[in-house]
Amino acid sequence: MNVETLSYAVDDQDRLIRVDEGFYRFAAANGWDSAGDCLGRVLWNFVAGHDVLKLQRLLLRRVREGAGPVELPFRCDSPEVRREMDIKIAADRSGRVVLFSAKLRTAREWKEPQPLLNARARRGGDFLPMCAWCDRFLVHGEWVEVEVAARQLELFRRAEMPPLDHSICPACAGTLQTA
Ligand SMILES: [Zn+2]
Repeated sequence: MNVETLSYAVDDQDRLIRVDEGFYRFAAANGWDSAGDCLGRVLWNFVAGHDVLKLQRLLLRRVREGAGPVELPFRCDSPEVRREMDIKIAADRSGRVVLFSAKLRTAREWKEPQPLLNARARRGGDFLPMCAWCDRFLVHGEWVEVEVAARQLELFRRAEMPPLDHSICPACAGTLQTA
């Protein structure tokens, strides 16, 4: 099944309020049984993986706060196809409604059907440090916002996201010590 573009929008409660034909085709290609009545449902019902969910929620918050629009490479495989997409996340002027639009870059059929990995395997040493106070991430020695970390590390493009390692950045540590 071919999915070239898709888009969807969520309201200020993260509920899906608009989806296009591409979204339904995409949902069908990924075997989401419940996609037919997705309108009104919270977007996060359709996101697998605890850390992925956490990062996407942070990203959405940043876009609403005015950091966006954010454009990122995005990996979205189904059991039959390996897909690389580009996604753009943008808020409307009120900052409440957020529109996601994705475009397919490449799609390649797997030689053999792949199991969908919801719980990502942990690999030694490959953790992503996150400050539990300011929600920034340590990338190449610098604490950066989620959209910068996602772009620099191509987090959503990976088949496996590195597990989050909750810690505290020096700036927050300093603030807490003087408080
Ligand atoms: Zn911090």
